[in-house]
Amino acid sequence: MKMKLLGTGTSHGIPVAGCSCPVCQSERLENKRYRCSLWIQEDETNLIIDTSPEFRLQAVRAGISKVDAVLFTHAHADHLHGIDDLRPFSWKKEIPIYAQKNVIKEIQERFPYIFTAPKQGGGTPNIKANLFPDQGSLSIGPLKITAIPVMHGNLGIFGYRIGNAAYITDCSCIPDSSYALLKDLDLLILGALRYKPHETHFSVPQAIEVIKKISPGRAYLTHLCHDLDHFQLKADLPKGIEPAWDGLEITLT
Ligand SMILES: [Zn+2]
Ligand SMILES: [Zn+2]
Ligand SMILES: [Zn+2]
Repeated sequence: MKMKLLGTGTSHGIPVAGCSCPVCQSERLENKRYRCSLWIQEDETNLIIDTSPEFRLQAVRAGISKVDAVLFTHAHADHLHGIDDLRPFSWKKEIPIYAQKNVIKEIQERFPYIFTAPKQGGGTPNIKANLFPDQGSLSIGPLKITAIPVMHGNLGIFGYRIGNAAYITDCSCIPDSSYALLKDLDLLILGALRYKPHETHFSVPQAIEVIKKISPGRAYLTHLCHDLDHFQLKADLPKGIEPAWDGLEITLT
């Protein structure tokens, strides 16, 4: 299985429009972050988690040629608003999308034109909405996926476990019942917004604590804001934890 991080920035992306801070002004590619989407590939199966507002640019940059299914973590704009760019991937075949019930409802309310009959000249992505079973698992090709319920402030959202890897982007608390689903991980990709605490996201110190508790083979931090310089953060993190960057590819056997 191969995972590629298509974006690793928080909701406003880095550089932040109009910001002149050192990270936003940095020339280093590691400090340029699209919003969060993930590409997972095994054999001929291509799975996407979240369609960020830069999804088209991400797909072109990464060379994605086929999408078999899309999982959504939640319906916040930074994880969803590239959904229209599934169009070219769904010309030949309908793409199933999966999310929890309230997320599917929100997607259908926010993008009603996708789910109604096509109008003349108005192309829409050919997608089918499916409920991801609460506390359930499903298989897509060779990939076995388990939903990991986590709290994002007051909002209950999903992280996902795919085989022995887990991807949890927006999270401020992991319930005990979900820790039980995160045992024996080879890889954990976890959101950490900044050093300072935040109501709806783990800070870097909180994320380190969570990673130590879960004890995966290795871990990467994602959903990073412009307080975090990649190289400074990398130097600060304990062994086995690294900042993710756009284009990072991880192969798991
Ligand atoms: Zn987010
Ligand atoms: Zn900035
Ligand atoms: Zn969010």
